[in-house]
Amino acid sequence: VLRVRGLVKEYGGRRVLDGVDLTVEEGQVVALIGASGSGKSTLLRCVNLLEDLDDGQVELLGRDISDPRVDPDRARRDMGVVFQAYNLFPHMSVLRNVVLAPTVVHGVPEAEATTRALALLERVGLADKARAYPDRLSGGQQQRVALVRALAYDPALLLLDEITSALDPELVGEVLALVREIAAGGRTILMATHEMGFAKQVADLVCFLDGGRVVESGSPEQVLGDPEQPRTREFLRRVL
Ligand code: ATP
Ligand code: MG
Repeated sequence: VLRVRGLVKEYGGRRVLDGVDLTVEEGQVVALIGASGSGKSTLLRCVNLLEDLDDGQVELLGRDISDPRVDPDRARRDMGVVFQAYNLFPHMSVLRNVVLAPTVVHGVPEAEATTRALALLERVGLADKARAYPDRLSGGQQQRVALVRALAYDPALLLLDEITSALDPELVGEVLALVREIAAGGRTILMATHEMGFAKQVADLVCFLDGGRVVESGSPEQVLGDPEQPRTREFLRRVL
């Protein structure tokens, strides 16, 4: 689904991504791990074309979307994104938030989008919040709505950037449980996470980033349990 090749990103001459290669196959869950500043968010932002690339390619569904001739808005329609926090539009109800992209961007008829949105909210136990505004929801509920919204137009790839890191500890579980369910449903996911236990449970592939490079990647058992690279070992010693 996704193939990143030789991706380079610099900010003010400083290389933040230094030739990243990464492939996410259909139905795979790939976890990006690494210290703060290692480039996880930048990589996700580059994939979502929120940043100009300095070199390299991003191929989505077999198309080079980093080609300057490609319309980024069009390319983004194949991706659902959830960030750490502030994902929802505060001035719209939960239902409006979920229905907006399918109707406005994808041209799904209002009634159909609403039916689907309500069904999705029902599935995550938030049907009774459909008419509420985001500020009436807990952080965990907001992130679950953000996930529902990202899935509302059935994107080929779901990008998640530390979606539980701004939550109170007691709310983390309900959001991770939903991601686990989404992953089990066969969704293709690229996620940055600092929840190593969670990465171990749901990821098919774990990539360790250090200084803007993929230093090590492999199965969760290998990378998290028996890392080859000294830098991976050092990182895990600090976080586990
Ligand atoms: P964290 O775990 O803290 O979220 P990260 O791995 O997501 O970290 P990034 O946010 O990708 O790291 O940042 C990588 C590096 O790029 C950092 O050194 C950061 O300061 C720098 N950086 C990120 N965004 C910008 C920007 N818009 N302008 C300048 N520098 C930036
Ligand atoms: Mg980040």
